[in-house]
Amino acid sequence: MSLEENIRKVRENIAAAAREVGRDPGEITLVAATKVQSDDTVRAAIAAGVTVCGENRVQEMTAHLDADAYAGAKLHFIGHLQTNKVNKVVGRVDLIESVGSEHLLEAIDKQAAKLGLVQDVLLEVNVGGEESKSGVAPEAVWALARKALELPNVRLRGLMAIPPVAGEEGNRGFFRKMRQLFVDIKRKMGDNEADMDCLSMGMSGDYMDAVREGATLVRVGTALFGARPPMRPKAE
Ligand SMILES: *Cc1c(COP(=O)(O)O)cnc(C)c1O
Repeated sequence: MSLEENIRKVRENIAAAAREVGRDPGEITLVAATKVQSDDTVRAAIAAGVTVCGENRVQEMTAHLDADAYAGAKLHFIGHLQTNKVNKVVGRVDLIESVGSEHLLEAIDKQAAKLGLVQDVLLEVNVGGEESKSGVAPEAVWALARKALELPNVRLRGLMAIPPVAGEEGNRGFFRKMRQLFVDIKRKMGDNEADMDCLSMGMSGDYMDAVREGATLVRVGTALFGARPPMRPKAE
């Protein structure tokens, strides 16, 4: 299938899953996970209607930015971000989805202050409690959200999660847990409650379940672009 057809199919699936649970499909944004794709593929995806690209490596993202490949779309950073690279990301993306520590939050705030802007962020939650994954533990999300409220140059927009590789039962339980956490944190945000409009969860294998459980952003790569080649070695 062509990229256009894949995008249409994924959009249809999102809309169908939304309607199943009485949601307006317009509440859900497809984020195209463009890692390892070429500048031309990124441009083709945007020409075919993709409105948001998600990148998870700083170096690839910088190359695409230099080539102006994201023109016409928004850009989210969805990967692991090291504090020493915040200067390459803050102010260059619309949303940093993957903030999992106070240390990183502070570094982002500092860089945003330097640039005189407010950076939108999501907190990444390690919802499966996996040793290997970054993200803040569910019990510690509120403390980190409170920290975000104290920092003038970051704006907390919601939560993001990458659940464990699903077994037979799928990830619905984790998605449901994320939804509850999201509602709970949002309620506690007081005057800033209205800023909390993003719940990012669901990838190629499970985005329909994520939509059924309340996702507003789904990050989809393989179902749009096909299987990725093995990760290229880091050229640094
Ligand atoms: C690659 C990636 C995705 C998309 O994964 P697919 O299974 O290819 O849809 C989603 N989120 C993050 C953080 C990713 O790195």
